[in-house]
Amino acid sequence: RSRVTHFDAEVLAVRGSQAELRARHHMERRLRSGIVNGDLRLHYQPLAEVASNRIVGAEALARWADDELGPVAPIDFIKIAEETGLIVDLGRWALRSACREAATWPMFESSDGIRRRMKVTVNVSAVQLSQPSFVQDVSNALVESGLLPRCLCLEITETAVIGDMEATAKILQDIRDLGVTIALDDFGTGYSSLTMLRDLPADVVKIDKSFIDKIADETSTDSVLARLVIETAHSLGMGVCAEGVETNEQAERLADMGCDTLQGWLISKPLPGSDAFTQWLPTAVLPECLGQR
Ligand code: C2E
Ligand code: MG
Ligand code: MG
Ligand code: MG
Repeated sequence: RSRVTHFDAEVLAVRGSQAELRARHHMERRLRSGIVNGDLRLHYQPLAEVASNRIVGAEALARWADDELGPVAPIDFIKIAEETGLIVDLGRWALRSACREAATWPMFESSDGIRRRMKVTVNVSAVQLSQPSFVQDVSNALVESGLLPRCLCLEITETAVIGDMEATAKILQDIRDLGVTIALDDFGTGYSSLTMLRDLPADVVKIDKSFIDKIADETSTDSVLARLVIETAHSLGMGVCAEGVETNEQAERLADMGCDTLQGWLISKPLPGSDAFTQWLPTAVLPECLGQR
């Protein structure tokens, strides 16, 4: 009697998906109260500039550890937040917190001797972009915190904008008119990367980690594509940041290719909070290949 009939299998599948649905609802409820109760945190991952060999800012990355669920991976809770609309509140919280904290970061001396302010980059989801109040939210976060607009960069993923390119372009331009910069995150992982470059106003392209992994092998397709992205972005007047840089070989290759900024475990893992980031700064040991070119 161990034979599973088609009917049994269907019943099991339905039960399975019901259990999944319950788990999702539970996570949604916990996330909602987590956002209201201030249980989320921002970690900051440093960004290193190749030419100056300096840390020029950091990316804000949301973290959530729930009393009942324990730590939940960002890909999991961000997905639920996007599907339920909770991302609007989560995103507004991330934007305001990142601006408030970055306004306290120290200045750094660039290789040209000029003292500059650090930048913070904040991830923004498509759902947020489609909110009529979004540009006002960004403007409010700047005014409230006193952060200079040029010290804020918003990261938009490629998959986030495929819906309505024209509407997205308009919103991004309104944001740039505030003086805020735009980065195209996870670049190369969508299906319309060139269209994005053509149609969206952006300042920086962030090459996805999946292209960086095999970059040390000069003959790899990923290496050829990374070089292409860097040269194309530069021709269009945009900067390039490489994500997920883990080894010195990768950093050297990227520096040779003219990549402007590096982010990844080689520089530092995301640091647990703004204070952890500013305390880490004087102790930072950057890869030797930086500042050489
Ligand atoms: P992302 O924006 O592409 O962020 C980079 C991700 O790569 C982060 O994952 C970071 O921890 C990880 N990473 C950085 N360097 C390395 C490395 O050298 N090796 C490896 N293996 N991983 C590295 P994380 O923090 O898990 O975040 C995942 C994604 O969740 C982010 O990808 C972003 O799309 C989203 N996310 C995080 N915080 C927010 C937020 O406040 N709002 C929105 N809308 N999305 C967020
Ligand atoms: Mg990002
Ligand atoms: Mg990214
Ligand atoms: Mg990514």
